[in-house]
Amino acid sequence: MKYIFGVDLGGTTVKMGLFNESGEVLDKWEIKTVKDNNGAQILPDIAASIKAKVSEKNINKDDVIGVGIGVPGPIDDNGNIFGASNLGWGTFNVSETLSNLTGFKVKTGNDANVAALGEMWMGGGKGYKSIVMVTLGTGVGGGVIIDEKIVAGAKGAGGEIGHILVNPHETETCGCGKKGCLEQYGSATGVVRLANRRLAKDDKASSLRGKDISCKDVWDAVKAGDEVALEIAEEFGLILGNGLGVIACVVNPEAFVIGGGVSKAGEILLDYIVKNFKETTFRGCKETDFKLATLGNDAGIYGAAKLVID
Ligand SMILES: [Zn+2]
Repeated sequence: MKYIFGVDLGGTTVKMGLFNESGEVLDKWEIKTVKDNNGAQILPDIAASIKAKVSEKNINKDDVIGVGIGVPGPIDDNGNIFGASNLGWGTFNVSETLSNLTGFKVKTGNDANVAALGEMWMGGGKGYKSIVMVTLGTGVGGGVIIDEKIVAGAKGAGGEIGHILVNPHETETCGCGKKGCLEQYGSATGVVRLANRRLAKDDKASSLRGKDISCKDVWDAVKAGDEVALEIAEEFGLILGNGLGVIACVVNPEAFVIGGGVSKAGEILLDYIVKNFKETTFRGCKETDFKLATLGNDAGIYGAAKLVID
């Protein structure tokens, strides 16, 4: 049997998985992300944990194909990171550094892109070769996979779907400093923003009135048939459907895979996006499938393992 390590480096924990070639997880564990000294300890900690697992499982080093790692920052195809403020990292080659520490071949990718690769391989995008993953969470992230390869771009910033301009008239500022980004409407706080704006428009009765609402409250009200909530869902679907229609015209994926906390609303969320996507997207790109992500927080370790298998 051949082995692969898949590593998902986050700001607080490092998720790790031991896989076989067919993509089965044989073991899964986590270590803490120690960010002291500008994150100098992070890669040595990961290397030590991998080495400990190799001896714990009595794995012959020659049977390890390599280590894949997803990191929160822009990464080019050669494994160079162009700064990761979240970890205190500057610019250096992650693949080379971790390879020197472990003695294994290492492949590195941006965490969102790697998660997209994981969903294509073993999750909601299984069976497709070209997908666009859209993660609707605290922010909006994404990853573009074409012919099973991550499209990272010149400086690794490809797939930053959350910061596509969808509303040039927006007055509030996005986390990135611009105004009118997709993230301002598609994230969990974005859904609440859309809801509060709709509620402020008039006095129409709604179960959403008179409380501090969450994204889940909004989708629960949609499912209950609340008329104001249905209007909010329609607005959400219009913005997402149009935004993804723009992406479809650029990369023409077989499917969009929608994940992140907001997607816990389920199929109903896709219904609103798809309806608007079909209405507004250029006809040549209209026949795109929409799927929900299925791997949750494990998408990163799956995608990281897949990086190495390729
Ligand atoms: Zn933005």
